[in-house]
Amino acid sequence: MSEHKVYPVPESVAARAHVTQAEYEAMYRRSVDDPEGFWAEQADRFLDWFEKWDTTLDWSFEGDVHVEWFKGGKLNVAHNCIDRHLAEHAEKTALIWEGDEPDQDQHITFRELHEQVSRLGNVLKERGVSKGDRVCLYMPMIPEAVYAMLACARIGAVHSVVFGGFSPEALKDRIQDAEASVVITADEGVRGGRKVGLKANTDKAVDQCPSVHTVLTVRRTGGDIGWNDSRDVWYHEAVEAASADCPAEPMDAEDPLFILYTSGSTGKPKGVLHTTGGYLLYAAITTWYTFDLQPDDVYWCTADVGWITGHSYLVYGPLANATTSVVFEGVPSYPDASRFWEVVDKHQVSVFYTAPTAIRALMREGDEPVTKTDRSSLRILGTVGEPINPEAWEWYYHVVGKEQCPIVDTWWQTETGGHLITPLPGATELKPGSATRPFFGIVPALMDTDGHVVEGEGEGALVITRPWPGQMRTIYGNHQRFVETYFSAFKGCYFSGDGARRDGNGDYWITGRMDDVLNVSGHRMGTAEIESALVLHDAVAEAAVVGYPHDVKGQGIYAYVILVKDAEPSDALRKELVNLVRSEIGPIASPDAIQWAPGLPKTRSGKIMRRILRKIAANELDSLGDTSTLADPAVVDELINNRVTG
Ligand code: ATP
Ligand code: MG
Repeated sequence: MSEHKVYPVPESVAARAHVTQAEYEAMYRRSVDDPEGFWAEQADRFLDWFEKWDTTLDWSFEGDVHVEWFKGGKLNVAHNCIDRHLAEHAEKTALIWEGDEPDQDQHITFRELHEQVSRLGNVLKERGVSKGDRVCLYMPMIPEAVYAMLACARIGAVHSVVFGGFSPEALKDRIQDAEASVVITADEGVRGGRKVGLKANTDKAVDQCPSVHTVLTVRRTGGDIGWNDSRDVWYHEAVEAASADCPAEPMDAEDPLFILYTSGSTGKPKGVLHTTGGYLLYAAITTWYTFDLQPDDVYWCTADVGWITGHSYLVYGPLANATTSVVFEGVPSYPDASRFWEVVDKHQVSVFYTAPTAIRALMREGDEPVTKTDRSSLRILGTVGEPINPEAWEWYYHVVGKEQCPIVDTWWQTETGGHLITPLPGATELKPGSATRPFFGIVPALMDTDGHVVEGEGEGALVITRPWPGQMRTIYGNHQRFVETYFSAFKGCYFSGDGARRDGNGDYWITGRMDDVLNVSGHRMGTAEIESALVLHDAVAEAAVVGYPHDVKGQGIYAYVILVKDAEPSDALRKELVNLVRSEIGPIASPDAIQWAPGLPKTRSGKIMRRILRKIAANELDSLGDTSTLADPAVVDELINNRVTG
């Protein structure tokens, strides 16, 4: 790779930041030398407890795998995200809702949030929902989605949010797996000017879900919907009739808070279970330090509440810190490619957190949609979801952030509850493409293929050797699968499934999923590195690289390449791309086959599903696997029809 650029911490950022580099080092050391002392202090500082816990930590990553934090402690998540702020911040804006159309928005104060959540909590109780019962949320990005999550937390019900873009089939599977008794939805969702029949999808799903006795429907558009008197209830009617007095249920720190299914990039989604105390603490503390939250921040995470990012960094983390959080109903390209930046200007957003897939898509449209906006309110930029190519990072930094905003490249997973490896704005030198350093209390290690620890500079499977408060406790209803998936590959360690490289300064570079690592003539290579080389070319917007069986090399390299708007495929371009990879990485990384692709199969959360690309490259078309979480299944057929042979 070409020499890595380093962006030092700007003095202006370090001056007001929560931690400087020296403070980070000291605090990190403390957090791993005395984890129980460290986390007990943070739990006192970040959360409000009804009753103190008995034991700070009880855990094992071997044998009877279990993790328990703050057992015996009593608290309530909604109380922590709302009630305790009322004394000082009742009239502060908790949520800014920005509708799909640019002229629609709404500010909701903490006082209003309290009332809405309390009323809905009572509605759920009246419908027979009690502590531990599961409630499924299938909602557009409207304030009611946040009310619903917090209402469940308030009464001790366990929510399972299912992304509103999923099909009735996917919804049905998730309702059945969790045995939810209530579904909260809307008549229709609106995204990018198009309507989505959420209630119609819910009806189809619920017809096959005997556990569901109530469907609560928010009236978002007033569109025509079917109605079943025995189970359908209008949200607004029920909420108006309910009392606004709903005491927050004292929950044990280890009581379940929610179930959330992973994106399904690698196979059948897993029902990840998170609990109350440890999860909330971890969401709160990571939001505070990673984004260096300031009291007057307007914080915008563009993720949907259907993903873990929407849970930890749109709802729980910001609200636990009494931060104003933006809820955006629309998409980055509607009405045009300036939308994100116009919203930033309109609401004076200071912290902005999005995914590489959105950055790459916007980069394709050129600089003008960005530069015509002001964006001077921005202070911190963040990214999550996939490795970010240095090319996209630089664009985000220079064009979007005008070289004024540190970028936090946060590595984490649904399973981890919050950031595990991430820069901190006032403490960490930035390297485009590197997630840099572990967060407080996180002890990562790299393992080689024999299960030995890689010391110093090197590459391997990324594991975590010590427990942290935000980690998942089990796969709902399948503890065995939990143990096998995460704790069997490397004895005594949590295995993330991802690979990483550690450089000479101790900074981590996520190389992608281990399944995606290539082995070409005995050389192991991450797909992310080759993809980053390909997108350096001006004509390339996006690239996905996979291995396929090759007689001589073991594995050949197959690259799917998407060109920018005005570029044309040609043999000359193909040669240029091969040469570019050779010069950036070396001849060993030269693609054997390049397919010009109109698009890539992506999960609904925007991640490239490489396992499908691998099957196409290998010509194993009858075993594509679970495609239920694909955003646009039609792309798969187009790719199959234009397959090239290497
Ligand atoms: P499934 O587990 O069902 O296959 P998924 O892994 O895509 O789906 P998520 O939990 O949403 O589900 O995503 C976590 C994964 O996303 C990580 O394991 C990693 O591969 C990738 N990822 C997230 N953030 C980053 C980042 N900053 N850099 C590199 N990769 C990242
Ligand atoms: Mg995963």
